Amino acid sequence: MKKADEKIDQSRRDLFKKSAIAAVGLAVAGVALGAKPAVAKMTQAGAMYQPKPHGSQKCSACARFTPGPKPTADGSCAVVAGQISPDGWCVMFTPK
Ligand code: SF4
Repeated sequence: MKKADEKIDQSRRDLFKKSAIAAVGLAVAGVALGAKPAVAKMTQAGAMYQPKPHGSQKCSACARFTPGPKPTADGSCAVVAGQISPDGWCVMFTPK
């Protein structure tokens, strides 16, 4: 291997090490600042979401539901993606 190639290889290794150290540093800083890890929500189809109640169970009575601006407006869910009707339901229903 030529000296120039060895120099480039060493530079790549140095860059890789610095990148890895920076990534660990950012992760530690995120944990220290209380940042929540990004967690993907389930799809509505995956959670078998439906826009209507399931018997007496509905999203407005679920602990995972965050209401919209009005009681009848769509809100959001901690575990299911997309707009969630207060009258909806899914298999992840958790009573308040
Ligand atoms: S977990 Fe299911 S039932 Fe509960 S708020 Fe989310 S979508 Fe509605």
